[in-house]
Order: sequence, then C-alpha cells, then structure tokens
Amino acid sequence: MKIICIGRNYPKHATELGNEKPETPVVFIKPDTALLQKNHPFFIPHFSDQIHHEVEVLVKINRIGKHIEEKFAPKYYQQIGLGIDFTARDLQHALKEKGLPWEKAKAFDGSALIGDWLDKNELDDLNHLHFELIKNGTVIQKGNTNQMLWTIDALIAEISKFFTLKIGDVIFTGTPAGVGPVAKNDVLEGHLEGQKMFSVKIK
Ligand code: ZN
Repeated sequence: MKIICIGRNYPKHATELGNEKPETPVVFIKPDTALLQKNHPFFIPHFSDQIHHEVEVLVKINRIGKHIEEKFAPKYYQQIGLGIDFTARDLQHALKEKGLPWEKAKAFDGSALIGDWLDKNELDDLNHLHFELIKNGTVIQKGNTNQMLWTIDALIAEISKFFTLKIGDVIFTGTPAGVGPVAKNDVLEGHLEGQKMFSVKIK
C-alpha cells in the first residue's frame, strides 16, 4: 500500500507556514514503511529537533482506479479515519529552501499514524466532519472538513490522474491550522466527530 498526502488543503494552515494558496493540490507520497504500527509509541528521530504534529482526516481506498471522475469517487472508499502526518519541520524547511524533495522530512519510518476507521455510512456529511487533536489533555488542533479547499472526492479525482489508486491505499487529506512541536512524554489523542480514533505516546 501507499500513503498519499495532501499539502495546503486548509487555507489557514498554508498561511501559518507562509505558503501561498495552491492552484492545484500539493501531493506527496509516503511508502508503507512510514506506517506507525498501531499502539506503538512515536520515537523522535535523531535527525530532527522539531517534529510537528499534523492531524488529518484519512480515506481508505477499497477499489482499484485510475482517472476517476469526481462524481464516481464515492465508489472508491467506504472508510474514513483520522491520523497524524508527523513532519520533521526543521528538515523540511532546509529542503524547501534548496528546492529539494521533502521525503526525508515527511516520509521517514513511523511518520504516518493511522487510527481507527469509521464506516462512511455512519457519518452524516463527509464535507462537514469535525476533528481535533488533544495534547496532554488540551485541544491543540481543531478542524472541519468544510474548510478544505478540495473535498475528498475532488482529491481522489486529482490524485488518480497521476497515480493508480489501489485497495488499501490511504489518503491523508491535509492538516488544518495549529500545527506545532511534540516533545518526549507527550500523549496525543485524536477525535473525529466526538469519537476517539487514536492515542499515541511520544518517546
Ligand atoms: Zn500533512
């Protein structure tokens, strides 16, 4: 499986990192080795002093597809989740400045936390999903999919122009404003529509 991530899908988050609103979605990929195994802690890697949390709504692909039209996109997923796109922000800044690819900062081992999944039929409106990230008992990131520049279905249409989507692939749909650093012993908990989707300890 592959993990397809969207950057700058929430205008306020693009602004907080000093980025312009993109004309098309920013897309990057994490390999399957980026998966943080369920219930495992996240270990801060030696190559970064600034690991940021990015809480994101996830979509699991359940059908193979290429050049998927937006109106048919709902046929390609049944489950919605929540996860964290862990980012070595210091390294990402250095790479961005040089115009180099972000993989070392974004796709390293353990950088993709995937929480529990919900059936989309249990959710009222996928374009109005409220989610939040809680660090040590305090809400630090809050978002709603109604703030996304591109909806889930629009993202699937765009991504599948370039990459064949396969069963089990996971899309990280972008993070809202409020990204920030994590430190040893922090506990991060993610909630989607009031339901706890994951909890992870930072080590
Ligand atoms: Zn992200």
